[in-house]
Amino acid sequence: MPKISLKNITKKFEKVVALNNLSVEINDGEFFIILGPSGAGKTTFLKVIAGLENPENGEIYFDGDSINNITTAKRDVALTFEDYSLYPHFTVFNNIAAPLKSSASKNKYNTKQIREKVDKIAKMLNINHLLDRLPSELSGGQKQRVALGRALIKEPKVLLLDEPLAHVDAKIRNQLRTEFHFLREKFQTTTIYTSHDYKEAISLGDRVMFLNKGEIQQIGIPEIIYNFPKNTIVALNVGWPEINLFDCSVNSKNSQLYCPKGDFVFNISGNILKLLEIYGKSEYLVGARPHHISFSEKPSDVYNLKAICGTSEVLDNQLVFYAKIKNLDLTILVNDPDLSLIYKQELWLSFDDQSLIFFDKETNENIKLKE
Ligand code: ADP
Ligand code: MG
Repeated sequence: MPKISLKNITKKFEKVVALNNLSVEINDGEFFIILGPSGAGKTTFLKVIAGLENPENGEIYFDGDSINNITTAKRDVALTFEDYSLYPHFTVFNNIAAPLKSSASKNKYNTKQIREKVDKIAKMLNINHLLDRLPSELSGGQKQRVALGRALIKEPKVLLLDEPLAHVDAKIRNQLRTEFHFLREKFQTTTIYTSHDYKEAISLGDRVMFLNKGEIQQIGIPEIIYNFPKNTIVALNVGWPEINLFDCSVNSKNSQLYCPKGDFVFNISGNILKLLEIYGKSEYLVGARPHHISFSEKPSDVYNLKAICGTSEVLDNQLVFYAKIKNLDLTILVNDPDLSLIYKQELWLSFDDQSLIFFDKETNENIKLKE
C-alpha cells in the first residue's frame, strides 16, 4: 500500500481556490481523516488524488513516483462519493460487480470468480441478503455499504471515502463506524476519509488533517487536535458544545486574569503565569471547553464567580446549560442529565486553569504551539 505525498498542490475553479498550496504526506496503510466544514476542499482533495481533477500546481507521488500524468484507471484507487452514486438500474450484485466487469478489468474475471468475490465482500459488509435488490429499495446505510463493496471489490491500493456517514442516521452511523475499524484491520489499505464531524474524525483517524477554505490548519493525531488546537478555527470546530472564547488581560502582580466582558478576575497558577510571561503579551483570547467549567450553587473560595443560569438542555445523556457573568455568555457541560437547574438561578463558577487554552489575540494561534 503506497505512501502518498502531495507537494504544493493548488486547485482552482475560476476564482475559487479549492486547495491552496497543500503539502502533506500520508503514510503507508494509514487511516487519514480530512476534517473540515462544507466548502473546505475535502472532495476536491480526494478527486485530485483519484485523478478526476487536475491541479494547476504541484505534484502527487505514490511511493515516491509522480502520478500526475497517470490516468484514474491506472492509479489503482477507489473513491466513494457522498451521494453513493450507485447505478440505479443495477441490482446490488451488479453494482458491486461493476468494477470487475469494466473495460479497465479487461474480462480478467469469469462469472464464477465474480460471484465468489461479490459474495465474499457482501458477507463482510452484511448485505449478502440484499444482492437482488435495486438501490431504490435500500436504506441510506445499506446504500453506503453497497458503495463500499463496489470500492473494495478490486482491493485497491488507495481507498478514498468521501463523507461516507454524512447521510446515514445516527444509530446506523455508530454501527458503521465500528465496522470501519474492522475493515481497516482487514484490508490495511491506505485510506483517506473525509468528514465534517469531529467525533467521527477523532474516533476513526490515525491522524486528522483540519482543512478550512482550501488551507491546512493542522495535522496531528486526534488527541493533539483536540487538546492542542493550533488556532481558534480548529478549536471552535473540534469539540462539542463549542469551546468558550473570551478576551482576558494578565495581571502578573496578582497572578490573575481579568475578563472585561464579564468584569471579573480569576487566579491562575504559577506555571500558567510563566507561560504567558514567556510569550510576552498582556492580552489573550482564552478558550475554556464547556466541561472544564465547574459550578456550585453556593459561593466558596473556589467557586467565586457569580453567574446567572440561562436555559438548559439534555443531549446525549449530558446536560448543557448556558450561564452569564455580566455580558459574558458561557456554555457549560455536565455529565449529569438529571441535574435540575432553575432558569435565572444564581450559580458560582470556577475555571480549571490548567485546561484553559490561550490564543494570541492578533493571530488567533495557540500560544503553546508557537514554533
Ligand atoms: P467540501 O467537499 O469540503 O465541501 P469541495 O471540495 O466540494 O468542498 O469544494 C471546495 C470549493 O470549491 C467550494 O467553494 C466549491 O464551491 C468549489 N468547487 C468544487 N467543485 C467545483 C466545480 N466543479 N466547479 C466550481 N467550483 C467548485
Ligand atoms: Mg464534499
